[in-house]
Amino acid sequence: MTDQGRRAELAAALREVNTRIERACAAAGRAASEVTLVAVTKTYPASDVVLLTGLGVTEVGENRDQEAAPKAEAVRAAGASPRWHFIGQLQRNKARSVARYAGVVESVDSVRLAQALSRAAAERSEPLDVLVQVSIDGDTARGGAAGDDVWRVSDSVAAEDTLRLGGVMAVAPIDWEPDRAFAVLRGISERLVKAHPYATTISAGMSGDLEAAVRHGATHVRIGTSLLGMRNLLR
Ligand SMILES: *Cc1c(COP(=O)(O)O)cnc(C)c1O
Repeated sequence: MTDQGRRAELAAALREVNTRIERACAAAGRAASEVTLVAVTKTYPASDVVLLTGLGVTEVGENRDQEAAPKAEAVRAAGASPRWHFIGQLQRNKARSVARYAGVVESVDSVRLAQALSRAAAERSEPLDVLVQVSIDGDTARGGAAGDDVWRVSDSVAAEDTLRLGGVMAVAPIDWEPDRAFAVLRGISERLVKAHPYATTISAGMSGDLEAAVRHGATHVRIGTSLLGMRNLLR
């Protein structure tokens, strides 16, 4: 496909996603400006990120450092400067790499990872924003902190000068109603904000469940498929 063709395709998808966000906000009695779109560009090329930034997207999400690091470099070389959200499970030995290009790491779920990121972020000119990933159903196999670990991780992030605690992130468990999952997440966010009043971010909602997430207070929705198309599953 030509660059122009892809640009038109992305522009149409972006209009549709923005309309969904606006409608969901209106239905929830919220202002559309309260919800930020994070375009999840994993498996898609740097050229798509550049096109999306040209269409007004300012936040992009990636879940693997080995893919994101060269993509961020290519996007920068092309003259675009979106804010990169790291949203995948992160090994501590990748913390230094991620801290070089990410503006936000949304998937911090252990004290040890927070400490590794804190050391890595010392080389930055500004603190690294961090969200604590919460496992809503308590099954931590796919990432996320559960139970009191949520507070342990949050407090450890808040204690680091090189990190800035922004709030919480979660993926709704596959076998839960999204409304139930995001209601639980909202309760966790409310408790977090009592201890850390500025940590108001709730990153929740993907292509299939953004409306439910907006109903339950999401401030950021992470949208891949609805914007860029179906990903190849054999990756
Ligand atoms: C891939 C991914 C998304 C986007 O999912 P879609 O269903 O394609 O919108 C959101 N959040 C995380 C953590 C992801 O890994």
